[in-house]
Amino acid sequence: MPAADAVIVGAGPNGLAAAVTLARAGLAVEVYERADEIGGGTRTKALTLPGYLHDTCSAVHPMAFASGFFQEFGLTRRVEFVTPEVSFAHPLDGGRAGIAYRDLARTVDALGRDGPRWSQLFRRLVEHPGAVSRFTGSTLVALPRHPFTMARFGLATFEQGSPAWNLRWREDVAPAMLTGVMAHAVQPLPSLGAAAAGLALAIHAHVEGWPIPIGGSQRIAQALADDLVAHGGRIETGREVRSVGELPAARAVLFDTSARDMARIAGDRLPASYRGRLRRFRYGNAVAKVDFALSGPVPWAHPEVRRAGTIHLGGSREELAYAERQVAAGRHPSRPYVLVSQPSVFDPTRAPAGHGTLWTYTHVPKYSSVDMTAAITEQIERFAPGFRDVVVASSCSTAVQVEAHDPNYVGGDIASGSGDFLQLLARPTLSPDPWRTPGKGIYLASASAAPGPGVHGQAGWNAALSALRNEFGIRRAPDLAPTEG
Ligand SMILES: Cc1cc2nc3c(=O)[nH]c(=O)nc-3n(C[C@H](O)[C@H](O)[C@H](O)COP(=O)(O)OP(=O)(O)OC[C@H]3O[C@@H](n4cnc5c(N)ncnc54)[C@H](O)[C@@H]3O)c2cc1C
Repeated sequence: MPAADAVIVGAGPNGLAAAVTLARAGLAVEVYERADEIGGGTRTKALTLPGYLHDTCSAVHPMAFASGFFQEFGLTRRVEFVTPEVSFAHPLDGGRAGIAYRDLARTVDALGRDGPRWSQLFRRLVEHPGAVSRFTGSTLVALPRHPFTMARFGLATFEQGSPAWNLRWREDVAPAMLTGVMAHAVQPLPSLGAAAAGLALAIHAHVEGWPIPIGGSQRIAQALADDLVAHGGRIETGREVRSVGELPAARAVLFDTSARDMARIAGDRLPASYRGRLRRFRYGNAVAKVDFALSGPVPWAHPEVRRAGTIHLGGSREELAYAERQVAAGRHPSRPYVLVSQPSVFDPTRAPAGHGTLWTYTHVPKYSSVDMTAAITEQIERFAPGFRDVVVASSCSTAVQVEAHDPNYVGGDIASGSGDFLQLLARPTLSPDPWRTPGKGIYLASASAAPGPGVHGQAGWNAALSALRNEFGIRRAPDLAPTEG
């Protein structure tokens, strides 16, 4: 096997971000991917019927827009995105809904007595998008660079992540909206981890919006792979790595795998004490996903919901907290929290003319093998009567199948490690350079490392920059901008 300077295990967005960074620094880079196609959590396939394109994992990309890596990479010059005017919507019973416009003032105007309170929570954070983007899109070790934003964000997190989370609100729409976005974290509600994730996502909703790639998330992976290959890198698909012994000799091996799998594959290249710490890294509860092929748009009761890229279902703040408590207790809620994206409303390439696709998932206990199609359909029907009539086909992926699709999602945990507050700070361990392991030349480049889940490439970028410094003596970050022409 020919020697390489660096080997990457896994071709998800983080693995590819790491590979691009190393190749751009002039190194010989090899990527090994177990699946037959690249992309990991950024893949797009005809899951239901021919001609209907579904994102198999990630669908909506505020994290990519906030990411320092993707800004350097010039993602928006390589992939076309559409950003809906309504970032997310939260329907409630009786045809009511909370609408998070990208425009904060418009959102505030529609929120009645809670409008000024929503404004007070977000106005100052939204006024400093640069700091907030670096703060949430980059590693937590960057926080001290933005002390005022950090303090404001911290106070908001403690308020919305504590039992005092209702003190601010007078009505039911604004707290339901915020809870819908906090619930992305698959954490108990309220909790600090959920509040931090929810506030960050809501800030992005009012800054850059929640963009959708034309053609699907696979376009992001393809843009990374094209750049890698153009700079001499090589990708081998259908190649599962089971032990470091199988890899060509290389000064650096970067794992775009879960922390669990890195410990197993690297074996005694890692000290036993560190492997013990990786074994104690916690994985969270899971998702079950359902994709629908539709004969027309979803008949949402509230007209503004039809213009939203993302919709959070489940009803009031209290109902959502109850549903998430059931998941935490190992049960499948009958009226679950459901996350919905309707990409074909904005991107006609996803389905035949006049038809559509709908991407949904709900939270379930880890390792669940329950098909949640009926419960998800019921929740959509609750806020969009007549939904069943536009469903042409559907495809379900249980939590167990989510892991089979990509082993980084341990037990169906789409965050590759619980996003509780402690693990957001210490990911996978508490360190100023959490990507570098004590094993010589071994790095963790995946969402199991800081800054955690999302398609942002930050973990891969940071792991690669650390490897460049520590293994190759290269301190200058390579230029990643698109080469014109
Ligand atoms: C259902 C779902 C919905 C999501 N929605 C969003 C969203 O809308 N927006 C967003 O920003 N994020 C979303 N995410 C999260 C996001 O997809 C992930 O956080 C992100 O893809 C992590 O990137 P990664 O490169 O660390 O890992 P992954 O994307 O998981 O890639 C890891 C790659 O490594 C490969 N691999 C693993 N083990 C081996 C091995 N032993 N040998 C060779 N190859 C191996 C895998 O096959 C995979 O290709 C979602 C995830 C899921 C599952």
